[in-house]
Amino acid sequence: MKHQIKRWNKATKTKEIVEVDITALKSIHLFCVHECMDGQSRLVPGCTDPHCPLFPYRLSKNPEIQKDTERVRKATARIMDYHRKRKKP
Ligand code: SF4
Repeated sequence: MKHQIKRWNKATKTKEIVEVDITALKSIHLFCVHECMDGQSRLVPGCTDPHCPLFPYRLSKNPEIQKDTERVRKATARIMDYHRKRKKP
């Protein structure tokens, strides 16, 4: 998906708007870095505004997907455990 982002141009030492092909989560992360934290990416993980709607997505990760992944991992472990116990005489 095409997004317009501001990027620091070292040659001209100015911010310029460029169009890039990135995911929505990545564009949120770049918004946090360039619009909110003035280009300092190391400050984004320590953001102190949990009420911001972008807060859960600021690290380019969707927490809902991670919860689902953890749920699937636990279910798979339970199924494998069940089958391991069934094989024993
Ligand atoms: S999540 Fe934090 S860093 Fe990102 S836009 Fe909101 S306040 Fe700024």
